[in-house]
Amino acid sequence: MAQTTPQGVDRGQPLVHAVNVTKAFHGTEVLKGIDMDVHRGEVVVLLGPSGSGKTTFLRCINQLETIDGGRIWVDGDLMGYEDRGGTLHRLTDKRIAAQRRDIGMCFQRFNLFPHKTVLENVIEAPRQVKGVSKGAATEKALELLAQVGLEDKPAAYPAQLSGGQQQRVAIARALAMDPKLMLFDEPTSALDPELVGEVLKVMRDLAQGGMTMIVVTHEMGFAREVADRVVFMDAGVVVEEGPPAQVIGNPQHNRTRAFLSRMR
Ligand code: ADP
Repeated sequence: MAQTTPQGVDRGQPLVHAVNVTKAFHGTEVLKGIDMDVHRGEVVVLLGPSGSGKTTFLRCINQLETIDGGRIWVDGDLMGYEDRGGTLHRLTDKRIAAQRRDIGMCFQRFNLFPHKTVLENVIEAPRQVKGVSKGAATEKALELLAQVGLEDKPAAYPAQLSGGQQQRVAIARALAMDPKLMLFDEPTSALDPELVGEVLKVMRDLAQGGMTMIVVTHEMGFAREVADRVVFMDAGVVVEEGPPAQVIGNPQHNRTRAFLSRMR
């Protein structure tokens, strides 16, 4: 039976179940056997130095990269493969695309369509991928724009918006697909400092609304306040993990301490 903690995290079967995930580029292993479970409603912040494999791990979950070894399940679905009697067979691109539909991703660069309005950007995927009617997609998009504080911007073009506003549109666009899981890859790193807070606020609200999230960020305040769990990665391995007060407040490993001392 599902057990929900006071923070709203469901301790039943994890939404993301990653086992011994390995990935190499040109013979260099950048993920060296990552194990990670993320429960429904949980917010996990991935911390670690540049090059430690955080982005690659997110991209593996979302099937933007093919893993070399291990397995990743999202909501019970084996990502990218079919297990036939213990032998893995790669799924067709169509089936992989279907798996990816339920996972929202926000990047450092928001990549909105520059020639489409904010509203058109948000309704694009539900219309094209899910075949949602224009009316229903528009109604939902306007709700999502209100949720990210952009109810007055549906007719604007991306170039008319600040970076923070564009990133909030990108979040609304991801949410328009009703994702089970949201992946954020340094969503505020490209923003001017004064615009970071408005994006983190939208992410905090989303977390409080029960969204399951994996967030790569260097925003330590966000990690402390919003994460249920912090995972510190270095050189392709998970070095330590736990509640933020433990990992950030009282790190056990020298590598974590060295990283955190550079953050302050
Ligand atoms: P992080 O997100 O922690 O900064 P990344 O996952 O981006 O780390 O990168 C991990 C390592 O993998 C780095 O050494 C990076 O240069 C390398 N890498 C990532 N993507 C590719 C790629 N497409 N081709 C070659 N090397 C890559």
